[in-house]
Amino acid sequence: MDKILVSQCLYGGEPVRYDGRSKAETDPRFLKWKEEGRLIPVCPEVSGGLPVPRSDAQRQGARIVSRAGEDVTWAYQKGAEEAVRLAKEYRVLCAVMKEKSPSCGSSLIYDGSFTGTLAEGRGLAVELLQEAGIMVFSENQLDQVEALMRR
Ligand code: SF4
Repeated sequence: MDKILVSQCLYGGEPVRYDGRSKAETDPRFLKWKEEGRLIPVCPEVSGGLPVPRSDAQRQGARIVSRAGEDVTWAYQKGAEEAVRLAKEYRVLCAVMKEKSPSCGSSLIYDGSFTGTLAEGRGLAVELLQEAGIMVFSENQLDQVEALMRR
């Protein structure tokens, strides 16, 4: 059975987001895959040792910096490596990761200015997953995930 790595905030359950709010995905296809046991949830930021709630953070080039200016790249790097380890352990078909996150975003992330401005870019976990050869989709691309699973 094909497995899919997913952002834990999409999977639901224990809160993992920086603000403690839920972003559980409700698309019926996602819920079906969950029920079938295909989904492998991971929150790179929690896996990296960060608490819930925590300060929001944004990418500034290779670094990830909290709103207060603290360099938290080490935690994001550790969590991104854990996401890759899980993807390999479960030999996932692909990953579905939460858009706009400095870890999980796959096409859009905040631009590092903390002004609410989005820019093209990838989160650190997605960067490492793609470097490891894992196909990554966002929660807005479930049509593509479905097509991939049908192949
Ligand atoms: S790091 Fe990823 S899984 Fe964790 S809360 Fe942020 S978007 Fe969700």
